[in-house]
Amino acid sequence: MTKILIAEDNAVNRELLRELLEMRGYTVVEACDGEEALRMVEQTQPDLLLLDIGMPVLDGFAVVRKIRENPRFASLPVVAVTAYAMQGDREKILNSKFDGYLSKPVNARALAEELERLLGKRENREAPPNQSHEGHASGKTRAAGSGE
Ligand code: MN
Repeated sequence: MTKILIAEDNAVNRELLRELLEMRGYTVVEACDGEEALRMVEQTQPDLLLLDIGMPVLDGFAVVRKIRENPRFASLPVVAVTAYAMQGDREKILNSKFDGYLSKPVNARALAEELERLLGKRENREAPPNQSHEGHASGKTRAAGSGE
């Protein structure tokens, strides 16, 4: 069974994501701040992490950095979830070590597409993560030439 960790400090958003995921048959585990997210990644070994950017203790950027430092979790798919849809943040996310991006309020269809895309190619993460973002954010051009 596919297990998804939701790391999100807002209880309402957490509940919403949980419902969307459970409806689709995923097992859900939760964390309320960045530190708990790291602990839950270790403890529950999720197949994918939905990671809120704005969280207490450690924000999403710090969490994904820590995760990538650990060889055991270097290839865990991590999807940034954020309310700040400002272009600068979006670019920062796309240039960070995330595998995907969802903006709040999370659209059920966009969520399903991200999960399918990331979980479908789990054993095959050689390709750079910033491909095929079509489907949402229509028309917005992404920062080209994103250096590492
Ligand atoms: Mn938050």
